Amino acid sequence: MASTASSRTLQTRALTVAVVGNPNSGKTTLFNALTGANARIGNYPGITVERRTGFLDLSRSGRVELVDVPGTYSLTARSLDEEVAINVLLGRKGLERPDAALVVLDATTLARNLYFLMQVLEFEIPVVAVLNMQDAAADDGIELDLAAFREIFKVPVVATTARRRQGLQEVRTALDELLVRRKDYSAPGWFWTPDPDLSRDLDELEAAIATEVRFPLPSINGRRAFALWLLMSVQADSELVVRPRLRALSLAIQERQRETGYDLETATIGQRYAFIDRVARRLVRQAPGKRASRTDRIDAVLTHPLWGSLVFLVIMGTVFQALFSWSEPAMLLVEDLFARLALGVESLIPNGFVQELISDGIIAGVGGVVVFLPQILFLFLFITLLEGSGYLARAAFLVDRLMRRIGLQGQAFVPMLSGFACAIPAIMATRTIENRRDRMLTIMVVPLMSCSARLPVFILIIALLFPAEEKVGFISVGSLMMLGLYLLSTLLALAAAAVLGRTVLKGRRQPLLLELPPYRLPDPKTVLMTLWERARVFLVSAGTIILTITILLWFLLSFPLAGGGEPEQPALAAAVGSTDQQTADPGQAARLQSSYAGRIGNFLEPALAPLGFDWKIGIGLVGAFAAREVFVSTMGVIYGLGEETDAENLGLREAMRRDRRPDGRPLWTPLVGASLLVFFLVAMQCMSTLAVTRRETRSWRWTGFMLVYLTGGAYVASLLVYQGGRLFGLG
Ligand code: GDP
Ligand code: MG
Repeated sequence: MASTASSRTLQTRALTVAVVGNPNSGKTTLFNALTGANARIGNYPGITVERRTGFLDLSRSGRVELVDVPGTYSLTARSLDEEVAINVLLGRKGLERPDAALVVLDATTLARNLYFLMQVLEFEIPVVAVLNMQDAAADDGIELDLAAFREIFKVPVVATTARRRQGLQEVRTALDELLVRRKDYSAPGWFWTPDPDLSRDLDELEAAIATEVRFPLPSINGRRAFALWLLMSVQADSELVVRPRLRALSLAIQERQRETGYDLETATIGQRYAFIDRVARRLVRQAPGKRASRTDRIDAVLTHPLWGSLVFLVIMGTVFQALFSWSEPAMLLVEDLFARLALGVESLIPNGFVQELISDGIIAGVGGVVVFLPQILFLFLFITLLEGSGYLARAAFLVDRLMRRIGLQGQAFVPMLSGFACAIPAIMATRTIENRRDRMLTIMVVPLMSCSARLPVFILIIALLFPAEEKVGFISVGSLMMLGLYLLSTLLALAAAAVLGRTVLKGRRQPLLLELPPYRLPDPKTVLMTLWERARVFLVSAGTIILTITILLWFLLSFPLAGGGEPEQPALAAAVGSTDQQTADPGQAARLQSSYAGRIGNFLEPALAPLGFDWKIGIGLVGAFAAREVFVSTMGVIYGLGEETDAENLGLREAMRRDRRPDGRPLWTPLVGASLLVFFLVAMQCMSTLAVTRRETRSWRWTGFMLVYLTGGAYVASLLVYQGGRLFGLG
């Protein structure tokens, strides 16, 4: 790495400074306050974690580039965020090692934050410590001794209230000073001494590092920190990128430690915390009673087994209400917008191929996805509000007791909840789970939570087979079915977690190390920024994939052109054309059946027949693999009523009800419907989810496993429902 070419660029590039620290310590707020409005958002190479950078002008060091690094509690590479943080700090994976770091610490929970600072210092990175949230600390009656801090950690330290832009000038001055003198920076070294066993292991790894090193490490201590990091981060089933030799050696040493019963984590984590415990009393003075009274009084209620659970249920009820009814008007609005857009296109572009592709393919396909945006935004609004206020940590604490029995981490709760809206943000939300096994388990079961893309399918099938007039008491059978499906989906996800956690993902569930943060009022600007970023990520990542698939499916349904007939009109256009007469064109089914998609449906029929499905449902399932809601529009096309068909359309339901099998029996019986509902509940029918799973787990094996176990499970479940039902003489 340290070739002449790169040392030449070193002189010309702007100095870079990483802004690092625990989550919610105020990094982004400080970053924004220092850089102003000129932040640029990109991605870290190959992954979805956002890389925010901005510039800061210092009087002596000149223009400095600041990087807002994802917050983490430690610097092993157990979670994706942690890996990004370490890559930035060490300059791994094509990133430039920063010239200095601003370590942002939350003054209200200083002790916990010191752990991270210690790790950064072990890596010998020049540091300015920023003790942020002075206002909140003062409210809590906390006083910090900056002189003692400087003396203990031997780094410049500044007190700030980033939210009120207080202390910024001091940060600039300290950073400028540090950068100017960075050439003769001498790191304070480690604050603890590894025991003899660990020392020997580290020596062995360091020797290997010295011959394999691929990025500049400044000194002996930094190399030792890297050795320890390898030892704690390399795991057999992760794709963490390290030299094969270092990886093999780390695994071998871990194995040796396991055999001798040496617990690496207890040894290192315990030692660091022992140091923190020793110095904390000199650094922090707590005025008696103040914080304790406020936070503890609230916590006495919110973490109480009974009252806490009640509050929890009320909050969850509100979230569900918002997701499924408050978002309704916004969803209708989006649908309406896209319908207008399609009409506009139809009036501007002449009838035919291009018009069909744009209005039925592109606009309908993208519209089908964007319609879920309100739900996603509501979900994230609640999550950021609950998280920002400090409540989410309490909720995780409450459900942890329950989740533990199943083998899940309390932190799995937020991702599972998000799964009701969409598995994609839900899987991304698992990043907060530090332990890889716990995170993997959560990712594997999240797709079983009934996401909103299943909703249109459920509505169609239930309305088709269980008319609204059928009631039990005053509740319609349809509503009960819907509720039942959501319950069943939750139970299935929990059952899957219990089974997977005892088989393929066997392992020690890490205890939940959750410090309850103090309560705060969420900052409106942060909330809005989060929503904006979520919306963007959702629209871009889901939109591109769905768009491609919809266009593809449209072609598969439209070609080859019907033999002999009008060659300028594709099969789909002919099918849609029949809308005007409200009667199915007899040639249309044949035309569809001979399209590429139709041939796939026919090919699949023998495999699907035992589940009660025919070739038409087969086509629907193929389309639904791209995105579940595509099933509804595919049925619309197949039953010759055009793509405008939505789940409420009476015409489609009527046409489906009249459909007969070749032997004259009705196709859509309640049993077929039940079998199909169960299939949609379980099957992995979402390309975007698979893509995100692959990105987040960085493992094709686990992605493949998810696809196979869910889709195989769906097949078996449907088979049981259909064949079981037939045994009992249903359908
Ligand atoms: P990050 O996760 O480290 O990037 O933290 P953020 O910058 O997103 O801040 C987390 C929360 O703390 C937000 O609600 C901020 O408004 C709030 N915050 C940041 N700095 C301060 C501060 O100095 N005082 C107080 N009271 N709140 C702050
Ligand atoms: Mg941030």
